[in-house]
Amino acid sequence: MKSKQSDLFEHFFGKEKSSPKSEKRPLVLSYSQISTYQQCSLKYKFQYIERRPTKPSPHLDFGQTIHNTLKDFHKEFDPKRTSLEDLLNLYEKNWVAEGYESKEKEEEFRREGERILRDYYQTAIRNPNVSLYLEENFKFRMGDCEIWGKIDRIDRLPDGGWEIIDYKAGKRRIGEAGLEADLNPSAIDENFQLSLYYLGCKEKFKRAPEKVSLYYLKYNQKLSTTRRPEQLRDVERIVGEVASKIREKRFEAKKGPLCPWCDYKELCPALKETRR
Ligand code: SF4
Repeated sequence: MKSKQSDLFEHFFGKEKSSPKSEKRPLVLSYSQISTYQQCSLKYKFQYIERRPTKPSPHLDFGQTIHNTLKDFHKEFDPKRTSLEDLLNLYEKNWVAEGYESKEKEEEFRREGERILRDYYQTAIRNPNVSLYLEENFKFRMGDCEIWGKIDRIDRLPDGGWEIIDYKAGKRRIGEAGLEADLNPSAIDENFQLSLYYLGCKEKFKRAPEKVSLYYLKYNQKLSTTRRPEQLRDVERIVGEVASKIREKRFEAKKGPLCPWCDYKELCPALKETRR
């Protein structure tokens, strides 16, 4: 079974053929690939080089359901006509029932999703937006890499500026301290994903967004910031460093707090040593 990431990759770029010339082609990287490499380069190798399947995950399927629901919602959104019931009907239509270990677990997620969407709807009605693009793909060249990704939403602001919004639907797994770090506005300033998406928007539309935002759906809280040139230079540096290591085939296990949730822990030599 292929992973969803692999499917998406092939959708944009076709199947990657292994050939002697493949080293010279641009290295295709997404935000998920870069952050996986930074978390653990061996995990990156398992997932993106060897294309080993990932395990079904309720968090992934739940996130997909919420993303698809919000995409459909904003496609037709009219604050005078679109009702909460319309939104909840879209949620029902988009529900993905895979990945849950039991009916009870599925129900728990379903109720949480409904709560999230009820809160979301109230905010959307109070602050009606103009969506220009929904789930917009981009790719652009950076050095010897091709960066690709998908922006959840691009809105037009009341003053005509553009805002990029990325939804965060997941539950944190590391505890409330990690969450507080994410919701801290200065962490948003440094957020690497938003910088990549800023560049993706600028390259695709020749239009730099005035605002970049993460929308934490579970808390119905949107945190926004802007991008400065020095933050964007950091992106080039990080992408360059990660790409060089991948080309040098540096794939070492890096144990960390997310190892218990790693799909490849049974294969991992670093964890085997710990178990001995
Ligand atoms: S279990 Fe941990 S160290 Fe091993 S591959 Fe996964 S993330 Fe890396």
